Amino acid sequence: MKNICVIGSGYVGLVTGTCFADLGNNVTLVDIDQRKIDMLNRGDMPIYEPGLAETVKRNSDAGRMHFTVSYDEGLKDAEYVFICVGTPSGVDGEADLQYVRAASQTIGEKMDHPLIIINKSTVPVGTGDWTTEIIERAQPEPIDFAVVSCPEFLREGSAIADFMTPDRTVFGSTSQKAAEKVAELYAPLNAPIVITDIRTAEMIKYASNAFLATRISFINEISIICERLGADVTEVARGMGIDKRIGPHFLQAGVGFGGSCFPKDVLALANMAQTHGMHPQLLNAVMEINAFQRRHITLKVREMLDGSVDGKSIGVLGLAFKQNTDDIRESPSLTIVRSLINQGASVKVYDPVAMENASKEVDGMILCNNSYDVAKDTDALLLLTPWNEFKQLDMKRILTTMKQPNLIDGRNMYDPDEMREMGFKYRGVGRGYNGEGVKAAGN
Ligand code: NAD
Repeated sequence: MKNICVIGSGYVGLVTGTCFADLGNNVTLVDIDQRKIDMLNRGDMPIYEPGLAETVKRNSDAGRMHFTVSYDEGLKDAEYVFICVGTPSGVDGEADLQYVRAASQTIGEKMDHPLIIINKSTVPVGTGDWTTEIIERAQPEPIDFAVVSCPEFLREGSAIADFMTPDRTVFGSTSQKAAEKVAELYAPLNAPIVITDIRTAEMIKYASNAFLATRISFINEISIICERLGADVTEVARGMGIDKRIGPHFLQAGVGFGGSCFPKDVLALANMAQTHGMHPQLLNAVMEINAFQRRHITLKVREMLDGSVDGKSIGVLGLAFKQNTDDIRESPSLTIVRSLINQGASVKVYDPVAMENASKEVDGMILCNNSYDVAKDTDALLLLTPWNEFKQLDMKRILTTMKQPNLIDGRNMYDPDEMREMGFKYRGVGRGYNGEGVKAAGN
């Protein structure tokens, strides 16, 4: 049993703290957001993440989890301090480090015994050295500490399982001893471990996210070509993915990547390269393709509605950036909804858990209680987030209530032939068609 303090109780901090408590450690979570801490102390969850509420409750009841806004309380008996604060995009696309700076400063000011400080936030290469300087300068008197970079690779929607069964854990530090001590905390997970220097660890995170984003933009570019040439990108991806050198993951064509990580991390990596005089052509292309993919959906809707969405009623299924999360940061769905509203459409929406977050971000959406209410009297229905509950909707019922039978499947969730036989005018992403819903061989 170790005493652990986690700074930041968002998606990463709360999951990290909860999982360490579940492994038997004593964890105090610190956040500057009093509202979040009050919710957690009441047993309410500030975010939606499958399995999180039960695990927090179990460990809080067992006395292994505490929530506070006080750094003094959090650091009191801590041996390890995890920094898990946000690093959003700054004005030029750089990672905005104001929260990392503030957390490091306060740790430096408040620490009164030696600590191992572990940075889990995604931060530009060199931030570990910078954090060390901030902490040293903030200390009233010198006290020993070590900084370790341990980038987080969990995915929202499967965060607990990802934390507990990671493909690998990466530790970077100037102190081999500190990196090994942090590695001990992760030993119960039995996952492969990479111990390296701090800058390399920071780069592993950016390079991993940029690579995954590149695969998505690659298949999305292929999807556009498939669409024009009459091929089906879902079959293309399957045929490619069986090749062991390629693998099947991150080859699903769709509305483009979103969320709180890929868009900002690719941008920040490109910014790092530019700042140091380089031209990150591939990263720029990845972002350009991703932006186009969202536009491509609104263009499809316009094309299906004879060139304009002005005055039309459009239904949207899904607002979160992906299934099993309430996170709407950089959600492709919200970009598409905003664009349709700006073009004069009346947009009805439904998402199983992201409605509240989305309605704070986008004005003018008509909020519905379920998928059937969304579809009623619409000229087109868009599937934008692949929630399970959209997979087996009564599509016949949906069709009969729509004004026009236009179905745009942004996630290739439905069977095109089945939908067309039912009477929909179906458009997926990268599934070749000739405009009448018939596969166009060879043109
Ligand atoms: P988040 O916005 O959900 O949570 C950040 C939390 O930090 C907030 O609750 C905020 O109030 C708190 N905070 C800010 N400044 C603070 C301070 N000085 N002291 C204490 N608390 C403070 O962010 P997140 O999604 O958990 O991401 C955190 C980091 O992890 C980011 O760098 C992100 O890129 C990275 N990351 C995120 C994910 C993900 O799926 N969300 C996955 C891997 C890595």
